[in-house]
Amino acid sequence: MRIRRWFVYREHRAIHIERGADPNCPDCFGEGGWWEGSATHPEEPDVVTCQCNDGPRIRIPYGRRPSRTYSAEPPF
Ligand SMILES: [Zn+2]
Repeated sequence: MRIRRWFVYREHRAIHIERGADPNCPDCFGEGGWWEGSATHPEEPDVVTCQCNDGPRIRIPYGRRPSRTYSAEPPF
């Protein structure tokens, strides 16, 4: 499930909420990163994670209702 920049998924008996890349980012254009080849090893490019994709990650374990703290996030 995706809400704009927010990704919500279930994993390891918990609900994870992550902020994705900024669609308006001038660096990655919403891709969240890019491949960057080096001069010495152009055949082995590195993945560069954009700074806009370094967002907060929220983990909500099952069996416990989310606290009111999360009410400020996008509604489900
Ligand atoms: Zn970016």
